[in-house]
Amino acid sequence: MQYKAFLIKYAEIAIKGKNRYLFEDALVRQIKYALKKTEGSFAVSKTQGRIYIECLSDYDYDDVVEKLSMVFGITGICPVVLLEDRGFEELSKDVMKYIDDVYPDKHKTFKVHARRARKDYPLDSQEINATLGERILDEYPEMKVDVHDPDILLSIEIREKINIYSVTIKGPGGMPVGTNGKGLLLLSGGIDSPVAGYMIAKRGVKIDAVYFHAPPYTSERAKQKVIDLARTVSAYTGPIYLHVINFTDIQLYIYENCPHEELTIIMRRYMMRLAQEIAKKTECLGLITGESIGQVASQTMQSLAATNEVCTMPVYRPLIGFDKQEIIQISEKIGTYETSILPFEDCCTIFVAKHPVTKPNINIIRRSETKLSEKIEDLCKKALETDEVIVVR
Ligand code: ATP
Ligand code: MG
Repeated sequence: MQYKAFLIKYAEIAIKGKNRYLFEDALVRQIKYALKKTEGSFAVSKTQGRIYIECLSDYDYDDVVEKLSMVFGITGICPVVLLEDRGFEELSKDVMKYIDDVYPDKHKTFKVHARRARKDYPLDSQEINATLGERILDEYPEMKVDVHDPDILLSIEIREKINIYSVTIKGPGGMPVGTNGKGLLLLSGGIDSPVAGYMIAKRGVKIDAVYFHAPPYTSERAKQKVIDLARTVSAYTGPIYLHVINFTDIQLYIYENCPHEELTIIMRRYMMRLAQEIAKKTECLGLITGESIGQVASQTMQSLAATNEVCTMPVYRPLIGFDKQEIIQISEKIGTYETSILPFEDCCTIFVAKHPVTKPNINIIRRSETKLSEKIEDLCKKALETDEVIVVR
């Protein structure tokens, strides 16, 4: 049987009061976006605190479920049979047919769970449960009732239309993208930053991204890798505006004028400064990075403090307490891992010192930066002018 509709469940806790319609509208929008990437034609609508997807043509069930599993805010995906109310006798027949279609093997336990949104229905929920339960036992003698842990929890909901469903595929949870403002992700070609973007987007935050590249020290392929990562992440977040900034001159200038062991920290401070400028221009409310305490020399508590010192905007570091292995697991799950491990150099690995400071002293870093004089301001301005915006979807 090919289902003609899906009922979408979402956690209602997040949507009390007047935020509810914002949440639902964003969810509808994200569902439509996700379904664009699968064949078939669909109508997505919200009615009475529910979201339905009606399938207007043939479609690929597995593909649709996979795409919906990427929409934050969805807690459950239920393939559903929607019926006009033609009286209880007809409903009862339809339920028998439903069971026969969905469960060819009848050696299963079940429980009927009826709910009435319309109180004018002639039977109440208990009566529906009891009557349908008996009829199922009569019709399919192999089936047994188990009210505590049934194989099949058969939901019958009496609404405008009657909803019959028994399958719930777990959604990703979180909140629909677009319900919590926008953040700017510092996206490199590594494993961590795409995962960081995914995690913040899961809280409903729309994502823009910035990539600092340093041609000719970093290749076009390294840039393409970042675009590919952004594309994979955009399957969850919706379109991403990726800002590509040419960082070469800044990097060389720092390299020529600062102690090499401080290079990474100073470079990272400039990345944060530039990212902040872009964020302000694009109405992003915070920066997002893939940093995790202690992962590398530039991510010790001291290094993070030194990097963070130049930020006036909140910096979200969702991976801060994660081990690399945990981050890798998520990157495999979301599909970025294979791309992230492609061996194209990123701009940080070209200029790494043999012995970078691991406990930078902020005062010393500040003093080193004074050697960069006004010229660095100029280089930053020029770098921002190189901003190439790529819309990734
Ligand atoms: P990742 O795996 O995300 O590349 P990493 O372990 O290589 O992280 P670093 O190179 O120290 O760590 O970078 C820390 C964070 O800074 C990254 O997670 C990313 O958010 C940001 N970042 C680093 N390099 C770049 C870059 N070239 N462009 C944009 N952001 C960057
Ligand atoms: Mg990196």
